[in-house]
Amino acid sequence: MNNDWQRDSTNHHQKPHIVFYFSDTGGGHRSAAEAIIEALHLKYGESFTAQMVDFFKDYAPPPFSKMSDLYPEMVKAPRLWQASFYATNGRGRARVITASLWPIAREPARNLVRDHPADLIVTVHPIANTFALKALGANRPPFYTVVTDMVTTHALWFDARSDRIFVPTESARQRALEAQMQAEEVDVVGLAVADQYCMPAGNKDELRRKLGWPLEKHIALLVGGGEGMGPLARTARAIDESGLDLGLVVICGRNEKLKTALESQTWENPVFIYGFRRDMPDLMRASDVIVTKAGPGTIAEALNANLPIILYSKVPGQEDGNVTFVESEGVGVWAPKSQLVVRALTRWICRPQEHAKIVENTRRIARPSAARRIAQVLGERLGLEQKAVV
Ligand code: UDP
Repeated sequence: MNNDWQRDSTNHHQKPHIVFYFSDTGGGHRSAAEAIIEALHLKYGESFTAQMVDFFKDYAPPPFSKMSDLYPEMVKAPRLWQASFYATNGRGRARVITASLWPIAREPARNLVRDHPADLIVTVHPIANTFALKALGANRPPFYTVVTDMVTTHALWFDARSDRIFVPTESARQRALEAQMQAEEVDVVGLAVADQYCMPAGNKDELRRKLGWPLEKHIALLVGGGEGMGPLARTARAIDESGLDLGLVVICGRNEKLKTALESQTWENPVFIYGFRRDMPDLMRASDVIVTKAGPGTIAEALNANLPIILYSKVPGQEDGNVTFVESEGVGVWAPKSQLVVRALTRWICRPQEHAKIVENTRRIARPSAARRIAQVLGERLGLEQKAVV
């Protein structure tokens, strides 16, 4: 008899099906899953099917089902969020948490795996791992984890029952090994980003023309993750009032309130205010510097777009290590106050050699092909045929 998760093995016409467990808590989990699916299609064409399931929204009981709305609010209490991140971090503690939540997670987790039969499961969110593995039981499809935090990776990412874990950095690999993952099951590949970052950047002026941005000014790109988090408005104002001659691009993501507020203001410089954009690779490659919350997805993309990074805020806990990473690799600075952001911008505009050195450092550590490498492993596991090259 088939298990709940199993597909009808008598139907030989079915293509192998990959299910991704993700959630829109921030924008990074979605971006990583989309990047891997894109890379799979580029390599294996239509020889498989893929589906992304938002397990919080579609399966978790309230209030967890509202997690994508609650997340930006929850991290506004930074000390509490940080304290709970560290208080729950650690193998034993993670086990206690998942065990104590299991009575309420059991049924939703079982529904999740039953509703989405798969030939291979990929999780890109730390909360999904243990609950899904428990619900699947021993006789299950291959189960892979793609870590989307860069350095400070929570213990919930690492469940030794996972068949393989892809991590972005060596420090994340160490955490996986501490969590009893076998060394051969942990791959350091970088953070999965859109395939466009593997392509030549093209001409910056042309990109700017297409976007309607000035050609002759420095452009600072401001991003607060998928949700437009952190003091974006205050930072944008401080830059605009600093006397610097530049263009400002502010990405508000899904934060409609912020977008409306910024649009109602008057600005000294050319300022471009956007909501959620699907063309982040173009926006990054048309800019000269990024001012961002320390989100791992945005940092990885900025490195691949060779953009020096100014970090104006972070989600305490999971983003703490990203700050150290950016500074120690010489690709940017931590500037948690508006005047520090302005100071860093001024320095890089006035000292082009310093800016160029940082661009050089981004080239050294960029890993644009993470999604391609993950796709290859998934494709090989499923025995997918590579697309014919025309
Ligand atoms: N993003 C996007 N469009 C937007 C704003 C953000 O596609 O308008 C993407 C961004 O490129 C990145 C992700 O959302 O891939 C944000 O991920 P990150 O890890 O930086 O922060 P999070 O939002 O998860 O806290």
